[in-house]
Amino acid sequence: MFEHVENIVGLCACGKEHALLTEECAVSKEAERLMKEYLDKKGFVRPAVVADENTKKYADRLLALFPASLHAVAGNAHATEIFTAEVGGFVEREKPDCLIACGSGSVHDIVRYVACEKKLPFISYPTAASVDGFVSGVAAMTWHGQKLTFPSVPPVAAFANPEVFASAPGRLLASGVGDVLGKYVSLFDWRVSNILTGEWMCEKLFSLESEAVKGAVEALSNRGTCGEEEYAAKVMNALLISGLVIQLSGNSRPASGAEHHLSHLWEMRRINGKNDGLHGEQVGVGLLLAMRRYERALREGIDYERLAAVDPAKVMDRKLLEPVFRDLTDGIIKENMPDGTLASSSLNRISLRPSTDRELRDAAAEVLPPSEEAERLLKLAGAPVTPAEIGLDPSEEFAAKSLRFAPYVRDRMTMLKALDAAEIDLS
Ligand SMILES: [Zn+2]
Ligand SMILES: [Zn+2]
Repeated sequence: MFEHVENIVGLCACGKEHALLTEECAVSKEAERLMKEYLDKKGFVRPAVVADENTKKYADRLLALFPASLHAVAGNAHATEIFTAEVGGFVEREKPDCLIACGSGSVHDIVRYVACEKKLPFISYPTAASVDGFVSGVAAMTWHGQKLTFPSVPPVAAFANPEVFASAPGRLLASGVGDVLGKYVSLFDWRVSNILTGEWMCEKLFSLESEAVKGAVEALSNRGTCGEEEYAAKVMNALLISGLVIQLSGNSRPASGAEHHLSHLWEMRRINGKNDGLHGEQVGVGLLLAMRRYERALREGIDYERLAAVDPAKVMDRKLLEPVFRDLTDGIIKENMPDGTLASSSLNRISLRPSTDRELRDAAAEVLPPSEEAERLLKLAGAPVTPAEIGLDPSEEFAAKSLRFAPYVRDRMTMLKALDAAEIDLS
C-alpha cells in the first residue's frame, strides 16, 4: 500500500474517521506474483476472473500462477443491469470465494456491483490506465438508461502491471489523463461548495489528490524522456490514488465535479445522441467547457444578489427540466432532494459572506491553471478537446445547453450549479 495514503486512515482534523477497505495496492511488474501471495495469505482458493473479450488475454498471466475460473463479457460491455445479471449467473454457477476484475472501467463496475450483491471480496487487476474508478467504493452504472452511482464495495486489493496497462490502446491511456486532469475542476468545485455551502472539506485528501495530479502532469510533460511505461505508471498511480481518496472520503466528492456532471449528462443521451467518447475523454472535454465558463464568470463578476436569492423550487421546476430530461425527470428531481424535500437541496444551503468573492477567487488562483494549459496537456496526451471530437454537436448552443443542465444530474454543489442557478431566466 502507498504509505502516504495509509497515514491518512483514522480520525482526522477534518472531523471524519477516514477508512480504507483496500488492504493492498501496487503498481509493479511483479503484480501477478503479488496477487498470488495475497490470495495465499487470505486463504482464497476458488478465485474467479471476470474479463471482457479484449482483456481476457491478460487473464493468462494470472491463470499461469494459480487456478481460477474465467468469464469474459462482450468487448463493448457496459455496467448495465444486463451484464451484471450475466456475471451474476456465472458466479452462481462457479461459487467462487473471490472475484478478480481483469479489465478497464466497465469490467470493474460490473464486478464491483456483483461482488457487493453476492457479498464476495474482489481484487482489481486493471488492464488500462483509463479511469480512476478501480479502487473506489462507488459503482458508476447505467441502470435502465439512467446514469447512477451506487454505493458499492471497493476491491480488497489492487495489483497493476505496467507491462500490461502500458500496452493497452493509446486511446485508453489518453482517456485516463482526461480523468486525472478533470480533478482540476473537481477539486475547485469542492472548495467552492465549502465556501458557498459550508460543505465538509478535508485538506489532507485535497492535497493528496492534487499531488497525484501533479505527478501525472509531470510524467506527461516528460513522456518523451521517461518512456511510455513510466508515463503510464504515473497516470495509473494518480488514478489509483484518486480512487483511494474517494474511499477515504466516503463519496466521490474530491474526484467529481462539474466536469463529471457534463460527462454523465451526455451519457444520459437526453440532449445528444449516442456519442463514442470514453469516460475520461468526455471528462476532458467537459473540463475545458467548465473551466472556460468559470474563467468568464470570474472575469465578468458573479451576481451575488441573484445567487443569494436562488430558490430551489424555481430552479428545479418540472417545466424547465421535463423538456430536456423527459422520462428521467422524476429521477433528476429526486436526486436533487436528498431527504425528499427541496429544503435539502444543495442550492438551499448557499450562504454568502462579504468575503465570499475573494475566497472564490483565491480558490481559483490556487487550484485552476488557465484553460489553455489544460487544453495543451490534453492535446499532449492525445486526448480530444472539443465536443465534436467525441461525436457531440459542435455548436455553441449545444455547449450552452450542456452547461445549463449538467449541474442537476447530481445534488452536488459546483461553481457551475451556482452560476446556472443565479443566471437562470425565470421570467
Ligand atoms: Zn480528513
Ligand atoms: Zn472519472
